[in-house]
Amino acid sequence: MSDISIPELKMNDGKSIPALGFGTYKLNGSSGVETMVNAIQAGYRLLDSAFKYENEGAMGEAVRRSGVDREKLLVTSKVPGLRHRYNEALYSVEESLYRAGLDYYDFYLVHWPNPSQDLYVEAWQALIEARKRGLVRSIGCSNFLPEHMQRLIDETGVAPAVNQIELHPYFTQQEQRAWHDEHGIITQSWSPLGRDNSAMQEPVIKAIAESHGKSVAQVILRWHVQLGAVPIPKATSPARQLENISVFDFELTAEEMDVLNGLDRPDGRRKDQHPAYYEEY
Ligand code: NAP
Repeated sequence: MSDISIPELKMNDGKSIPALGFGTYKLNGSSGVETMVNAIQAGYRLLDSAFKYENEGAMGEAVRRSGVDREKLLVTSKVPGLRHRYNEALYSVEESLYRAGLDYYDFYLVHWPNPSQDLYVEAWQALIEARKRGLVRSIGCSNFLPEHMQRLIDETGVAPAVNQIELHPYFTQQEQRAWHDEHGIITQSWSPLGRDNSAMQEPVIKAIAESHGKSVAQVILRWHVQLGAVPIPKATSPARQLENISVFDFELTAEEMDVLNGLDRPDGRRKDQHPAYYEEY
């Protein structure tokens, strides 16, 4: 077990969230369990899963095998597009608890708004009910634009605690983050390292990394942390997991933050997944 401890941020529902978490997309089966157990033992406390990743079972198994108290871990899953109707969304939460073998999730998110379906408010109502029943502790969304979240607030009076969005140096989401800040919603960053884009090869980031004696991944993750966003990097090897969590012992200057902010591109999404028209079921 490492002794790295991750600072926490306060959410609008009074609960706290670690400033950095662990992504689990593509971590499945027994090797996925092993990778997640390593991550927990390296010090990660927040795990990000989803119905769509088909690894809620692996995540639950990793929680049990990790040797860390359940109460100290925060596990996440997400309602898929096909389950936005109220009853189906509620069943979806129950079914994912059965799959994980857990009796509550710390976070449950609506994975995509799928605006053409126009059912995301129903899914949100189901998450509000799931929270009331104690099946989940905090509720939020993912890939929601301000207009989608405004509807949740207007129609239910409940704002999401978090919105998990694509965010990396080529796609910095400044306006969306400002909207989150105004509404007390925590930004979580998916593909925080840009997954397979070339952000990790950027010479300007390499130069900053060298000057701090840190890796490029550490500089990018530190940038997220200083933006106030919660990155959830996925890494398979224990060495990379430890590298990615070791970002709380140095600080980027305002100028260095600006260098990373300046890498933003209007077409910086990894793929053409604009939530106004891209949908996932
Ligand atoms: P990512 O975390 O940005 O990048 C992961 C890739 O970077 C993997 O190929 C990993 O390799 C590599 N990597 C990790 N640490 C590294 C390091 N220190 N040095 C060099 N390479 C490193 O991308 P992601 O997995 O797409 O995003 C993270 C999580 O966000 C996902 O796992 C998932 O939980 C979530 N997500 C959510 C949505 C959504 O719609 N809500 C969409 C996409 C992703 P190895 O694994 O081989 O070590």
